[in-house]
Amino acid sequence: MHIAVIGGGLMGMTLAYFLSEAGQRVTVLEQGSAIGGLHNPAQLADNLSIPRYPHNIHPGDKHIFKLINQLGLQDEVCRRHAPSGLVHHGDIYPLRSIWDFLTFRPLRLRDRLRLGQTILQARLTNDWHTLDQIPVRDWLIKIGGKSNFERVWAPLLEAKFDYDYDDVPATFIWSWLNRASTLRGGPDLHTSLVYLRRGPGALVEAMADAIRARGNEIRVQTRVREIEIHDNQIGQLRTYSGILDFDMVAAAIPTPELSHLLLTADETYRQSLSKAPYLGLICPALVVDQPASEYWTLNLTDPSSPFSSIVTLPHPDNAQYHVMYLPKYTAPENDWMGVPDSDILEAWMIRLRQVYPNLKPEHIKHAVVNRTRYVDPLHALNAKERIPAVQTPYEGLYLANTSQVYPELPTSEAVIAHAQRVARQLLAQPVRHTLSSTAA
Ligand SMILES: Cc1cc2nc3c(=O)[nH]c(=O)nc-3n(C[C@H](O)[C@H](O)[C@H](O)COP(=O)(O)OP(=O)(O)OC[C@H]3O[C@@H](n4cnc5c(N)ncnc54)[C@H](O)[C@@H]3O)c2cc1C
Repeated sequence: MHIAVIGGGLMGMTLAYFLSEAGQRVTVLEQGSAIGGLHNPAQLADNLSIPRYPHNIHPGDKHIFKLINQLGLQDEVCRRHAPSGLVHHGDIYPLRSIWDFLTFRPLRLRDRLRLGQTILQARLTNDWHTLDQIPVRDWLIKIGGKSNFERVWAPLLEAKFDYDYDDVPATFIWSWLNRASTLRGGPDLHTSLVYLRRGPGALVEAMADAIRARGNEIRVQTRVREIEIHDNQIGQLRTYSGILDFDMVAAAIPTPELSHLLLTADETYRQSLSKAPYLGLICPALVVDQPASEYWTLNLTDPSSPFSSIVTLPHPDNAQYHVMYLPKYTAPENDWMGVPDSDILEAWMIRLRQVYPNLKPEHIKHAVVNRTRYVDPLHALNAKERIPAVQTPYEGLYLANTSQVYPELPTSEAVIAHAQRVARQLLAQPVRHTLSSTAA
């Protein structure tokens, strides 16, 4: 069978990797000039490139480490203890250990204990189905109290959901707490930072090498603009550079993007895809010649800040440099997406200098604004009923994206596990008859 994978992000590349490992012929079609999607590096002046977005590996991840070993990237894995913290009313508070947590001054002792209880409750809850029906705000107030909600959780939810979290189910915080609380481990309880030395793109590049070595093709600058549908099954794929035939098509792209490709599909199905809400992301990245602090990640509780955290990582191949990321998630209707880069940098720098008065302009060697319209699917209450199926209503057409990994967070670990499941599902399908590919 010849299978097209639309989208060369982590999902598409992992899917193509496992399908080709099973002996299938695959062709990846990626609209960008390089593969990787959110893992794709940004090219700067002076021939310098940086990971577009900050990525680290969770020490408890399993699928990603297995894949890293399979691809022979073990020597690329870097581990170090790195503190994280909180900027609250202008002061930086370390949150490196249980002790830091229990002595966190902005909270009363009683509230700190209730915060601990919230974490424990999340870890003890195995059945997430009930949480899918409870608003995150109600669950957090019930377990941890109003004061903790206002001081700790509301800033986090406002930052993550761009203030619009009334309908967000408690599964979000349940997944977040379960992932975060296993991050602090080891005898000194310091946070372990794990990352690939050459950046997150190294994983995708290594899969691309393996896919090509198995005789398959990866086409960049190939934007699919239509998937034809005839008699409830897929027809040809139209790209700007030609018309292609495949036996099966797996779209590893955000849900609303698939709706744009199904021009002749059933209107109800198309509408259900096009209405799927997603958060966007604006993320200025600064290349600095010295880190502004020892903190790997700092979360800001101040609602007036244009960005919600500061993530600092070593530059992948230039030891003199660090990269500071200043992300802001944007709700679908947020108009920051249309603001020019120069205005964004100006607004972000005013706030950054308040946090780090010692960060002088001469330490900033490069600045770039990265933005992506569809980064994270937004799940509302009873989300499990609205997860789009992998098998679409059309024979031969499948969807694989992060909206299907619910209730887990859409991390690289979850993406790799899901791509593997989708690969198995495709391999179990009856063989469709092969049509020949034709160039236009
Ligand atoms: C700021 C940020 C930080 C993150 N940090 C972490 C982290 O620390 N750890 C972690 O585990 N995970 C992290 N993640 C999550 C991780 O990046 C994602 O789970 C993963 O990259 C999703 O990959 P994807 O392939 O589903 O999507 P994408 O990377 O968006 O890929 C989709 C691809 O499809 C292509 N495409 C779309 N339409 C078409 C078309 N019509 N024709 C051809 N191609 C098309 C796009 O160009 C793109 O390359 C982070 C995400 C973000 C945004």
